[in-house]
Amino acid sequence: MRLAFAFSSLSSSFPLFARQTRYPLQTRSNTLKLSFTGKAGPSKKMKRILLHICCGPCSITTLKTLLGQGHEITGLFYNPNIHPLTEYVKRRDGCLAVAEKLGIKVIVKDNEYNPQDWFRDIAYRENNRCFHCYARRLERTSQIAKKGGFDFFSTTLLYSKYQKHDDIASLGRDLESEKTKFLYHDFREGWQEGIKISKEWEIYRQQYCGCLYSENERYQKELGK
Ligand code: SF4
Repeated sequence: MRLAFAFSSLSSSFPLFARQTRYPLQTRSNTLKLSFTGKAGPSKKMKRILLHICCGPCSITTLKTLLGQGHEITGLFYNPNIHPLTEYVKRRDGCLAVAEKLGIKVIVKDNEYNPQDWFRDIAYRENNRCFHCYARRLERTSQIAKKGGFDFFSTTLLYSKYQKHDDIASLGRDLESEKTKFLYHDFREGWQEGIKISKEWEIYRQQYCGCLYSENERYQKELGK
């Protein structure tokens, strides 16, 4: 059974990412324990969390951590940065396979898979592309979380050792609101376990970050340069 469903009614409610927006990076100390920012503070009460998911392997120990704390998790697969489309489908299906195993619902934004729009955002700022790529995905996640009345939003990007962890945390904090906070946790502590389980579960494991730039970097040796 596929647990995915779409919040299609939400898709037209928000302008996708303000291109000119700049997010000031704030320096805050990272903590290894789960930290709820803002006035909501740590709570033992179950919270509703919208978790942006970039792929299956990154979601395994992230979800296990949050579910283990008794929270209600809804996943969000919104990743217009994954190219080409066939690669997007593989990662989406990997995400859904993990979600099914762990019994969570996932909002799938196939109707917002628009690489052209993503490339326009990145054009002429390719050297800082990851920051804008994170911002687009986190902004959409925070919009849906606020609209849906979630207590928190977060992202599996915080699991990857290859991403700019502090940039992601700062962006998330800048996007939180009084009612919908950003949930920060250093999910990288589950890195090895996530790899191990993804292999056991035969979840699709990608070979590059996502965009064509990263694919080019991964395989440029094929050009004999
Ligand atoms: S390398 Fe990854 S995070 Fe950076 S722009 Fe490409 S897909 Fe986004």
